[in-house]
Amino acid sequence: MNKKNTLVIVISAILMAMILSACSAGNTVQAASNDPVVHTETKDYGETAPRAVEMRDEHAGDGSGLLMGLSGDLTQEEIADLLYMREEEKLARDVYAYLYSHWQLPVFNSIAQSEQNHMDSILELLTAHGIDDPAAQTATGQFTNSTLQDLYDTLIAQGSISLEEALQVGALIEEVDIQDLDEALTRTDKADLERVYSNLMFGSENHLRSFTSQLSRQLGIAYQPVQLDQEHYYQIITAQPGQRGRAGN
Ligand code: MN
Ligand code: MN
Repeated sequence: MNKKNTLVIVISAILMAMILSACSAGNTVQAASNDPVVHTETKDYGETAPRAVEMRDEHAGDGSGLLMGLSGDLTQEEIADLLYMREEEKLARDVYAYLYSHWQLPVFNSIAQSEQNHMDSILELLTAHGIDDPAAQTATGQFTNSTLQDLYDTLIAQGSISLEEALQVGALIEEVDIQDLDEALTRTDKADLERVYSNLMFGSENHLRSFTSQLSRQLGIAYQPVQLDQEHYYQIITAQPGQRGRAGN
């Protein structure tokens, strides 16, 4: 997990720099009451035809996972990844829940609910493989993994500065999630893990499009990727809703 820890430290350093920069600029942005948030939200998360497939996929953890089939014994690496991803999805859920309470921007509430589904999907795998849930005894905003705890604390501080910072936090979380899921996928050949990780990736790509779209439409800001390379980011952003950002995945 050294690589991952290093990544978190690097992100934290970048975020602190962003916070200091934003504080000095004093660029608080208020949500406009007449902006097209509700319309955007409906488009991004409504039950429109192109989204129906995704919504089914995202709810794969709600019981349909019984059809998934249980793979054999997991390696220590696969177990470590599952434990980390369970809490990384929780970090996303808890940060978005906090940001929704702070800014009342509907996109945070909708995506927090999606992250709950992602948490459920990972929990289903943990349970099926007889692994204790690291999130079982933790309250909202509390984490067993200390690097995720530090990241949560840093992210809610940044997201409290302005709506722009809050949306930047959302996009960054999705970038990190995509990258970590990509790495976890390289470390497993178990069909049940691959299926869940792929579904979570699918959701993260949609979430990244939602946050960057809000930045663009509401604030006129073109998001610049922090973790993903430009080509990968561009492929995700230009994919149609319900379509994967990359061919062959
Ligand atoms: Mn997620
Ligand atoms: Mn997400």
